Amino acid sequence: MSTTPSTQTRFLLNESDLPKNWYNINADSPVPPAPVLHPQTLEPVTPDFLGVLFPMELIMQEVSAERYIEIPEPVREIYKLWRPTPLIRARRLELALGTPAHIYYKNEGVSPVGSHKPNTAVAQAFYNKAAGTRALTTETGAGQWGSALAMACNFFGLELEVYMVNVSYQQKPYRRILMETFGAQVFSSPTDRTAYGRSVLARNGKNPGSLGIAISEAVEVAATSEGAKKYSLGSVLNHVLLHQTVIGEEALKQMDLAGEYPDVVIGCVGGGSNFGGIAFPFLRQNLREGQRTRLVAVEPTATPSLTKGVYTFDYGDTAKMAPVVKMHTLGHDFVPPPIHAGGLRYHGMAPSLCALYDAGYIEAVAVPQLATFDAAVLFTRTEGLIPAPESSHAIRAAIDEALDAREKGEKRVILFNLSGNGFFDMTSYQAYLSGQLEDYAYPEEAIKASMAHLPQVA
Ligand SMILES: *Cc1c(COP(=O)(O)O)cnc(C)c1O
Repeated sequence: MSTTPSTQTRFLLNESDLPKNWYNINADSPVPPAPVLHPQTLEPVTPDFLGVLFPMELIMQEVSAERYIEIPEPVREIYKLWRPTPLIRARRLELALGTPAHIYYKNEGVSPVGSHKPNTAVAQAFYNKAAGTRALTTETGAGQWGSALAMACNFFGLELEVYMVNVSYQQKPYRRILMETFGAQVFSSPTDRTAYGRSVLARNGKNPGSLGIAISEAVEVAATSEGAKKYSLGSVLNHVLLHQTVIGEEALKQMDLAGEYPDVVIGCVGGGSNFGGIAFPFLRQNLREGQRTRLVAVEPTATPSLTKGVYTFDYGDTAKMAPVVKMHTLGHDFVPPPIHAGGLRYHGMAPSLCALYDAGYIEAVAVPQLATFDAAVLFTRTEGLIPAPESSHAIRAAIDEALDAREKGEKRVILFNLSGNGFFDMTSYQAYLSGQLEDYAYPEEAIKASMAHLPQVA
């Protein structure tokens, strides 16, 4: 382990290399996603319905067929606080694995709040401010999204209400304090501030909450605010994946600096945004330039939306207030096991990504919790950086690719996205180190039960 590799490790871009455009996969996708449906009528939504929740500019991005959408200058100015992010060759990890593979990672954990989420939070706050929005509402699970939006709202002078899943609110007080430091108001969901929250609490006063419930509360507050407040979502939607493509655009340039091109690009998936962000620019090169990079989405075995979910129309939230979309789903009222990768505990997946997976343009694998932490600890000990539990799913898959390459005696170029650092996730590492972390079996019965409640779309 003491061998110090001598050749280049970090591949850095200048501020002037910061992308000027986001890349819209819908311009090139051979399989455009199905229309978004109204949760009551199950008919395609009108811009009016979406306009209650989102500013028009984001709705236009949601349905745009333009290949490139210019990044507004004020957004680029804020991106410069941490972008371009480094691309790093994980040489010490390669050595530890004894693999002929080359492993590169894009480090999105260097953003001020520790993940890729500010890439879209800053953009969403900008467009809301420009449209005259006074306040935003949102949900957060593990707290990464809430922290990112709290930072962005603070920069643009917007108020923010965050509905934080009760279990996380209890377990992660530091994430809450970070949001409050930026000036956000944080509530433990389910709350008594919304009709839906009160109905959930009436049934069970100790409900631990879920992302689906928290989304319902944040949507209800915005929808009943008579235009004063808008809602903001940190993943799943096209415009969110669009904003994240700065990751892949930078990585393309950086792989060029390294003089290599990836055989496989890997990212973890909760709602699909960091994976889409790194993978879609490489998918463009596959579709338009004849490259043949494999794109691998990695999910937990406890919430296997892609590998075990059904590809069908479902509600985005538990209370059926958010739009209905066609996606790989475990059912909108499925409550995932309490795995430590809170950011991956969502029942659905980005529709654009699902369409591509269904048609075979993207691969998916599911990895169990313990093997994920084994990978995270090996990564920490070799590369010196403690990864978010979510990102560790991508590390697990990257290591498995590298081991497979070793077995086959292949030189394989592997690129994965390190979606965030794990500095706020010490309790999960503590659980791992003290032998208390467990694997959750695939929750077959709970998913089957939830499948009975899918909307009946004609
Ligand atoms: C939120 C989050 C994820 C999962 O969300 P995606 O939209 O799938 O990217 C992954 N990693 C980290 C660090 C997160 O905060």
